[in-house]
Amino acid sequence: MHLTQGLHTSIQMTPDAVASIYRGRRRTYRELGDRVARLAAGLRGLGLGEGERIGMLALNSDRYQEYMLAGWWAGAVLNPVNYRWSVPEIVYSLDDCDTRFLIVDDQHLPLIEGILATAKHQPVLIHAGDGETPAGMHSFEQLIAESAPMEDSWRGGEDLAVIMYTGGTTGLPKGVMLTHRCLWSCALMRMTTCPVDRDSLVLITSPMFHVAGMGLVAQRLIAGAPNAYLPFYEVVEVLETIQRERITEAMLVPTMLQALLAHPKFAETDLSSLKRISYGAAPINAAVLERALELLPAGVEFTHAYGMTENCGPVTLNLHENHGPEGRASGLYRSAGRAIAGLQLKIADEQGQELPRGSVGEILLKGPSLMQGYWGKPEETAKALQNGWFSSGDAAYMDAQGYVFVVDRVKDMIVSGGENVYSAEVENVLAKHPAVALCAVIGIPHDTWGEAVHAVVTLKPGATLGADELRAHCREFIAGYKCPKSVEFRDTLPLSGAGKILKRDLREPFWKGKA
Ligand code: ATP
Ligand code: MG
Repeated sequence: MHLTQGLHTSIQMTPDAVASIYRGRRRTYRELGDRVARLAAGLRGLGLGEGERIGMLALNSDRYQEYMLAGWWAGAVLNPVNYRWSVPEIVYSLDDCDTRFLIVDDQHLPLIEGILATAKHQPVLIHAGDGETPAGMHSFEQLIAESAPMEDSWRGGEDLAVIMYTGGTTGLPKGVMLTHRCLWSCALMRMTTCPVDRDSLVLITSPMFHVAGMGLVAQRLIAGAPNAYLPFYEVVEVLETIQRERITEAMLVPTMLQALLAHPKFAETDLSSLKRISYGAAPINAAVLERALELLPAGVEFTHAYGMTENCGPVTLNLHENHGPEGRASGLYRSAGRAIAGLQLKIADEQGQELPRGSVGEILLKGPSLMQGYWGKPEETAKALQNGWFSSGDAAYMDAQGYVFVVDRVKDMIVSGGENVYSAEVENVLAKHPAVALCAVIGIPHDTWGEAVHAVVTLKPGATLGADELRAHCREFIAGYKCPKSVEFRDTLPLSGAGKILKRDLREPFWKGKA
């Protein structure tokens, strides 16, 4: 199990087929293979050793895919750096797993000075961009042009392939150790549940440093299927690219899809090539789904994935069959789906005992795709992986057919007066109010109830709203004990590098010196 294996097969079978597309730049498998073998040799020439870490701080592009493959070809371990992080967070991850090689694109060059000023080891810097390479850096393109191709190192199996940092939603980001075997297994397991067509063309706009992007690229490389990349999500370019390149599949989270459907250019774009839209991170809202099914070309399928870094990507998939009228009527469209083939999933109590169907507990997982552990954190690893079962930290229930419904993060659940309140459920109701822009629901200490439900809300520009009005709105949809006892309006909410709200920061002042 080598992550370069799919590339070797494609070079042999379909050397002239398109492997990657980036803003009109196309590379065949033959070109890709040649560039990867040269880049790997160039990086080795600069001193990159087998098993050593190489980072990439860049927006999505075809060069990102080349970095992934060249890193593996050279026998190195990838550290795909989150470009939304601040300089101290970037330096934290570089220092944490001792990353001494860093590839940087044009957009992130301004961060280099700060990184060099504070990193423990000065990384060897490689500039992957179209602009001029600054002094003191090596050029990605020159390394490719001037190096003779090397033989594949063929590292694979239990060798580390990636150290990928988690979102840092619940604590400091942790370096998840993923081996070639983990990524391969996850790809095969996902393909068993949802096959990959080699004639498909996926548009990747979600960040490749994140497991959703990188896991998908790894899977498609193994399957020999091509990818089109955009540096980030921008509605007009997404629409134009789908039309120009005849994209068959796009990964769009519900908010992106909503923006796409609402855009004036939507109606005049030819989207007839689209066959599938995959989404994740949260269930889709019924109104958005219905509008999408009405406006998109007939036959477009929806697939919902729930997953996490520690499993290289998807854990469960909810396929299109549950997004139609029946699934919408039964509520099955809101499910995260069923476990991908070969992954054991159970809903368990605090002792790890499986709970009856319908009861809310923590999702525990077992299977060949799970991480080896957290880099340099044996205690956290031991806590997360017990007897081969990984504790996801997510609270969910399972129905009689094995469909999983994620209700909240275990750490975000609120116990008020002995009743469980799922913060995500309350947030969904708050978000329905037209004046609400962003919201977070947390438990704060309360003498009588143990915890009280507290909402922190930002309003849309120009909107006004009082706490009582918002509470009355909640009461229309949910039981009284779930409605916020207190509401706080703020201008902004603290967000993680992945754009998730940092509830630990919101909770902290309330709990200081308490529990
Ligand atoms: P950290 O582990 O550092 O706190 P994180 O868990 O946010 O950060 P990721 O691995 O990027 O880091 O995110 C995985 C988490 O995202 C899951 O554990 C789950 O809580 C949430 N998630 C992912 N997909 C879905 C989904 N389809 N529905 C609900 N929640 C989801
Ligand atoms: Mg997590």
